Amino acid sequence: MILSRYNFLFKSEKYGFLLYNSLSNCFLEISEDIYLLLKEINLSEKIVEQIIPSDLIDVFKKNKIIVNNDLDEYYKIKFNTLYQRFYDKSLELTINPTLACNFSCGYCFECNKEAKIMTDETEKNIIKFINSYDTVENIHVTWFGGEPLIAYNKIESLTKKILEINKNYSAHIITNGYLLNEKITKSMEGLKISFIQITIDGTEEVHNSRRHLINGGKTFEKIIQNIELIFQINPKIQVGIRVNIDGSNENEFICLYNYLYDKWNKFENKNIFIAPGFVTSTNICNSVSDCLFDKKNKIDFLINLFIKHGLQPISFYPRNNRYECPIRNPFHLTIGPEGELYKCWNDVGNKEKIIGNLNNKGLINETLLTRYYTAADPLEDTNCIKCFHFPTCGGGCPYQRIERLYNNVNIETCDLIKDNLTEFLEWHYSSQNISK
Ligand code: SF4
Ligand code: SF4
Repeated sequence: MILSRYNFLFKSEKYGFLLYNSLSNCFLEISEDIYLLLKEINLSEKIVEQIIPSDLIDVFKKNKIIVNNDLDEYYKIKFNTLYQRFYDKSLELTINPTLACNFSCGYCFECNKEAKIMTDETEKNIIKFINSYDTVENIHVTWFGGEPLIAYNKIESLTKKILEINKNYSAHIITNGYLLNEKITKSMEGLKISFIQITIDGTEEVHNSRRHLINGGKTFEKIIQNIELIFQINPKIQVGIRVNIDGSNENEFICLYNYLYDKWNKFENKNIFIAPGFVTSTNICNSVSDCLFDKKNKIDFLINLFIKHGLQPISFYPRNNRYECPIRNPFHLTIGPEGELYKCWNDVGNKEKIIGNLNNKGLINETLLTRYYTAADPLEDTNCIKCFHFPTCGGGCPYQRIERLYNNVNIETCDLIKDNLTEFLEWHYSSQNISK
């Protein structure tokens, strides 16, 4: 056996001798003797089990600190990635019943898009389309828009029809929260919606200046009242509050957090989390962001929250499993109100990015579809293949990678943690003892 190249061994001034492995994502405290011993072992050393104390061998094997060879480990990552890309048991749909919105937010990438509501024909063809996926056991829908609650009746009628298909069904919704009234909130359970994401961009004044109604009207107070309705009527639903951050409102995150923390009794018995979303220059979705902050700004923002306020809204610790964006998988699609099909949320409303149409038009843009499936693949990227972070980073957002390849857009897809591993691991270590 050899020492894995995915080990990261370091001496922390504050916390002693530590060992992280990106393959198993384990993080171990070790003694100084073991630290010194591991430091001495050459990566090409073939028989580490004869050097390492016998009582550690099992733990080191289990945590992939020692492996038979690194190439086999890479192939496992590759297999896992391909498995996710071809997984055919879950159909993941993002459905936009309308692109209309009652808000007019300055940074919204969907501004100026046509405000159509989904037709009955599209609704019928969505059901026909879902039925054509006969291998599927699970169906998950994210309701998105525009503001999806403007077309609430479409959410209701489509859900009813999807439930009749009789597969495991679950749903999330991304809404601005303004139209969430008692009737809609009561219906969430029947609609199988278990998670609601609502954006609030800061405390009242700042939020109202950034996220106002089309006529300029205020929205903060109404949204807060509506979230309280969810707590009262349907407390099992998880509420995710996203705070869009850019250079102009970065201090608002903690102000809003503290305001809600006090208002909602330290979040006791509330199924809620609050996280920053960085406003993007390339219309990137929540999961991966190329924000108007540069990488350093993002890290400074997160450190500041942690050091000054003990908050860690985005984990400092790497993801456990390599994340593969589902746009690489044919069983993941975004559907617009006119039956138009997209792969990535960023493309919604952009006619050039339509890959097909459910209303009898079929596949329209095979080239783009093929790019989303296979282009700019990190499995073919030498930098990624050789990268220590590949098991947890996975190469980043495919949309960004494809933009970089075809349109020379200067985007770095590397994980934030890449240049700050020691610090992130130390913060993670210390955060185990810090909670607000
Ligand atoms: S390709 Fe990127 S932006 Fe699009 S859904 Fe995936 S992670 Fe989000
Ligand atoms: S995108 Fe960057 S950090 Fe991620 S695997 Fe590739 S080289 Fe490594």
